[in-house]
Amino acid sequence: MHSNLVIIGGGPAASAAALLALDSGLTPTVIYPKKKQIDNKPFQSLYPDIIKLLKLIRCEGPLDASKCGRYSFISINGQKTPLSNYKEIPDVGYHINRYRFDQFLLEEVKKRGGNIIHGNAHHFIFDKAGRISGIFTDEGKEIATDFIIDASGVRRFSGKQLKLEEQYFSPEFIVTTGQVSISPVLQEEQIFEFHTEEKGWHWIVAAENTYTWTKLTLKGQQNSRPPNSLEKYKMVGQITAQNMTWRKFRNLSLPGLALVGDAACVIDPASGQGVHTAILSGIKAVQELLCKKSKSPLILTDYEKWFNAYFEAKCKELANYYKQLGLEPLLLTD
Ligand SMILES: Cc1cc2nc3c(=O)[nH]c(=O)nc-3n(C[C@H](O)[C@H](O)[C@H](O)COP(=O)(O)OP(=O)(O)OC[C@H]3O[C@@H](n4cnc5c(N)ncnc54)[C@H](O)[C@@H]3O)c2cc1C
Repeated sequence: MHSNLVIIGGGPAASAAALLALDSGLTPTVIYPKKKQIDNKPFQSLYPDIIKLLKLIRCEGPLDASKCGRYSFISINGQKTPLSNYKEIPDVGYHINRYRFDQFLLEEVKKRGGNIIHGNAHHFIFDKAGRISGIFTDEGKEIATDFIIDASGVRRFSGKQLKLEEQYFSPEFIVTTGQVSISPVLQEEQIFEFHTEEKGWHWIVAAENTYTWTKLTLKGQQNSRPPNSLEKYKMVGQITAQNMTWRKFRNLSLPGLALVGDAACVIDPASGQGVHTAILSGIKAVQELLCKKSKSPLILTDYEKWFNAYFEAKCKELANYYKQLGLEPLLLTD
C-alpha cells in the first residue's frame, strides 16, 4: 500500500494534522490503536484560545461533545484570578473529557475521507539510500509513503526508534492525576484551585459530580494519594502518573519525517498548553509540507525552527510563573 502522507497517533496532534491535510487535498493514512472508552478519566482543562485553532481545521464540535464544565477564573493559593488576566481573552475555558474530545476529531477525519488503520506503528522502513520510506505496523501492514508525521505522544515512537538525542529543561517531574466523586450534585459550581506546595503544586477542578486533582512533584517525592482536602471523598477510576520533565528532541525534522505534539516535546500541565501545542504543531507541520514543491526526501526546516523558538518561549513563560509563585526549587539552576 502507498499513501502520500502517514500520520502516527490518534490524539489531537494527529487529528489536527490529518484534518488540515484533508482540507488541502491530501489523503493521509492515520495509524492508531483503537481507544478504550473510559468515561471516568480525569478531566483536562483548555484555555478559551483553543477555539481559534479548532476553527483553522474547521472543527469546533469537539468542545461541545466533550465539555464537562467551564471556568472563568483560576483560584491561585486562594486568590481568584480571571482568565482574561493571562491571555487577554475575556471568555471562559473548558474542562473536557479527553476520550470524547479525541474521538470527535477522529470521527471527523474519517468523515472527510482519511484512511484509518487501527494498530501501532512498529518500525520504520528504509530505502536503499537509508532514508525513511515507510512504516510497518504491529499487525503486519506495510505502508510506503513520501512523508510521515509522528504524533505518537509520550510513547515517542520516532525518538525511541531512531534513538534521537533529548534535551532537558527542568528537573525530573512526575505528574499524578485522579478523581473523587462528590455529592450532592454540583450545579454549575466553578472550582479551579491551584495550590503551591514546598516542591510542587496541585490543582483541583470540579466537573460532572467529581473533583479531578492533578499534582506535580519532583521525582522520588511523589505519592499517589489525592491532596489532603479530597481525602474524605470516594476515589473513582484509576490514579495515573506520568513523567512530565520538560524535554524536547534536538531534531524534530528529518528527511521524510516530522515530530509533533508530545512526540516532539513535553512541558508540565501548569503551562495549560499540552493540547494547544499538539494541535498547533500538527497544523504547522502540515502547513510547511504543503509549501514544499520538491519530491522526497522532504525536510521541514522552518517547522523545526518555529518549534524550537516556541518551546523555548513556553519554558521561559512557565519558569517565570513558577518564580512569581515562589517555586524556584522546581527550576534548574544553571
Ligand atoms: C496528568 C496530566 C494532565 C494533563 N492536563 C492537561 C490539561 O489540563 N490541559 C492540556 O492542554 N494538556 C494537559 N496535559 C497534556 C496533554 O495530555 C498532552 O500534551 C496531549 O495529549 C498531547 O497530545 P498528542 O496528540 O501529542 O499526544 P496524545 O494525546 O498522547 O496522543 C498520542 C496518540 O498516539 C497513539 N500512539 C502511541 N504510540 C503509537 C504507535 N506506535 N503507533 C500508533 N499510534 C500510537 C496513542 O494511542 C494516542 O492515540 C496533561 C497531561 C497529563 C499527563
